[in-house]
Amino acid sequence: MRLEQYSIGVGDRFGHQGAAQLRALELAAKQGVSIVPVWNKSFREHTIVGTNPGNARAAADRAVRERGWKQSYYIDADHIGLKNVDLFLESSSFYTLDVADFIGKAASESELSSFVSAMKPYMSEFPIPGVQTTTAVTEHDLAAIGRKYHFAVQEAGRIYRHIAEKKGAENFVAEVSTDEANEPQTPAQLFFILAALAREGVRVQTIAPKFTGSFLKGIDYVGDVGKFATEFEEDLVVIAHAIKTFKLPDNLKLSVHSGSDKFSLYPVIHRAIKKHHAGLHLKTAGTTWLEELIGLAASGGEGLALAQEVYRIAYERIDELCKPYETVIHIDRSKLPAPQAVRSWESKEYVSALRHNQADPKYNLHVRQLLHIGYKVAAEMGDRYLTMLDRAKEVIGQNVTENLYQRHIVPLFLGS
Ligand SMILES: [Zn+2]
Repeated sequence: MRLEQYSIGVGDRFGHQGAAQLRALELAAKQGVSIVPVWNKSFREHTIVGTNPGNARAAADRAVRERGWKQSYYIDADHIGLKNVDLFLESSSFYTLDVADFIGKAASESELSSFVSAMKPYMSEFPIPGVQTTTAVTEHDLAAIGRKYHFAVQEAGRIYRHIAEKKGAENFVAEVSTDEANEPQTPAQLFFILAALAREGVRVQTIAPKFTGSFLKGIDYVGDVGKFATEFEEDLVVIAHAIKTFKLPDNLKLSVHSGSDKFSLYPVIHRAIKKHHAGLHLKTAGTTWLEELIGLAASGGEGLALAQEVYRIAYERIDELCKPYETVIHIDRSKLPAPQAVRSWESKEYVSALRHNQADPKYNLHVRQLLHIGYKVAAEMGDRYLTMLDRAKEVIGQNVTENLYQRHIVPLFLGS
């Protein structure tokens, strides 16, 4: 299985919006840009919604049938490790091997020294033209990289071989992610991580490093865009260099775990991938669910009442809802309107507060983040929520398509 040049990771918490998401990709294809969908759902998400990987596969298959989608599509076992990968073996075709928790765990001294001697010949690859942040690598640097990343890479090898044994190495796409680490990886570190993955025999097709800055869920990038731009471009150079040097799959590309809506980075990323003729995998978070909520609010009546109720319950249970997302959200509680106030909102006010339009003075990024993690509340409503989704199907579907196409695909892949 060989992942295409452009792919987009789309979340669909309740499995109702696959067809509307595909419509956005059809619009891109009409403009001459081919992007394949990867439906990603993590173990955490499945646990909170009460679904299993088989449900995600069924929803994707249904959407593909409905739209008559002819290109490839993938189901991503997102952020899995050895302890939960087995649940995803049957229904997934894309595996995001998350080894962030293993960064900094010590490999044995003998393994470390064999890592350093295996990597030593590649010190002379530096300086790499186009990579300015690291011009020389010493043996001391290699030892530091080994101490930090070698164990994590070995863990990736363990997960990879486990999947390969069960499914066959040709039958899945492997991504390695370290984006949930505490510190960003430098382009030079990325180079040696790729070297080490090659040495472990991991046929990695996408790699998701942690970039500089904050990638919070559902809101724009927080950080230095210029610094990100340099790092991103150097990563592209390093990947191209690593493919040749270590004979990694030639479609290996960066995967940006965006957390969705990194609007200020899209033009920068677009320019860089065009300049370097690079591929891209953009992983988004479950903001599709927010388009459902916007659609419900916009349809007024019972839909609006339900959207208000979701807000009230999420507001009351904020501590519990934030817990699994602590490191990836930043809600200023003093900026959250009281549920009684939201109760009196009309459709327009609810939509303005929630929809990610930074030009709208009523847009509230704290409300947006709270509702983003509030999908648990809707999940608990069960059929009551799903029935409302069906009733507002038209308006929600339009929102989902337009959001994905206009706000994401156009600036990122089409570049306008
Ligand atoms: Zn991630």
